Amino acid sequence: MDINSKFEIQNSKLFDRCGVVYFIPAHKIDTGSLKQIFSHTKFLASFPAQSNIGVKVHFGEDRNHNHLSPQYVKSIVDIVKADNLKPTLIETSTLYRGARQNRTNHIELAHKHGFTENNVGAKIDIVDGERGEEFKAVPTNFRNIKSAKIAKGLDYYDGLLNLAHYKGHFVVGFGGVIKNIAMGLAAKGGKLEMHSLTKPTVKKDKCNKCEVCLSVCPVDAIEITEQSAVLGKSCIGCASCIEVCPEGAIRINWNEASESTQKKMAEYTWAILHNRKSLHFNFALKITPNCDCMDRTEKPIMPDIGVFASLDPVACDMAVWEKTQKNIDKLYPELNPQLLMDYAQELGLGYKTYQISEI
Ligand code: SF4
Ligand code: SF4
Repeated sequence: MDINSKFEIQNSKLFDRCGVVYFIPAHKIDTGSLKQIFSHTKFLASFPAQSNIGVKVHFGEDRNHNHLSPQYVKSIVDIVKADNLKPTLIETSTLYRGARQNRTNHIELAHKHGFTENNVGAKIDIVDGERGEEFKAVPTNFRNIKSAKIAKGLDYYDGLLNLAHYKGHFVVGFGGVIKNIAMGLAAKGGKLEMHSLTKPTVKKDKCNKCEVCLSVCPVDAIEITEQSAVLGKSCIGCASCIEVCPEGAIRINWNEASESTQKKMAEYTWAILHNRKSLHFNFALKITPNCDCMDRTEKPIMPDIGVFASLDPVACDMAVWEKTQKNIDKLYPELNPQLLMDYAQELGLGYKTYQISEI
């Protein structure tokens, strides 16, 4: 029996269990409880010995220390190795200029944040080339994305372990397992495509030309003219300037931008997962207003909850979203993050209904 048919059989059994979300409360997270998730899902058992498992991690931007702890990543790497499989930490380069913009500086920063082979037990592979330029076009023919630009190196891996740090996000409301896959495993061109409607404009009468926005623009797209700041054509829609403008002069059509980005993220997630075995973890710890791409360490908005894990990425995000909704809604009242789960379910990525199984 080949691996695919074996997994189909396993998957058909798992189908009944789709929507099962395993939960470890924050105070109980250790190698033993994480191991139980693997034995319940039988994910690792579906691979032949020595298969390559890509472990998707976000190493955190420089000066941001809320990223997933290397200690938890080590526990998971050890579990994978104990099953005679070969884990590698995988990531892609960022769209914006920063400390993770290419393979070389990304790996340097990951090491600085403790993700060395010595500490974690696995090497790092930046799967979209030196500058995020290496992609494989995956035909999707969806409403928004006709062909997704997926990091080329992903095809080397037989299976995908998706380790997401759950937190808020000012474009889509929150970042969980779906965002970690979509933005995290698309090549640079794909990230740009998902962000294309987040390009903001400046309200001239509100701008006092303070130049604060200049310092955060990762692509130098902002010019200060006699009247006001002006955002040029090279804007990649990262939205950093909106966040720092003290006058609230930089605006975006949030409904349109957020809805479009969420839908494109779901379509990219489909492109990445539809032929790939995957298991998803949402670490709902140090839940901050913004994502780990911010170059600062923010204060959490609520106490730690724990780890949620599932073979179903939609159920995995839905379970944490429902636990954090009040806090996220307060932060981003103009956004509707549920659109992401609605559309992901429509695409067949999983189910919004779920059952929690506490470990
Ligand atoms: S930060 Fe805001 S007020 Fe200051 S120059 Fe930029 S747009 Fe104008
Ligand atoms: S959104 Fe603002 S900070 Fe980001 S690239 Fe465009 S102009 Fe620069």
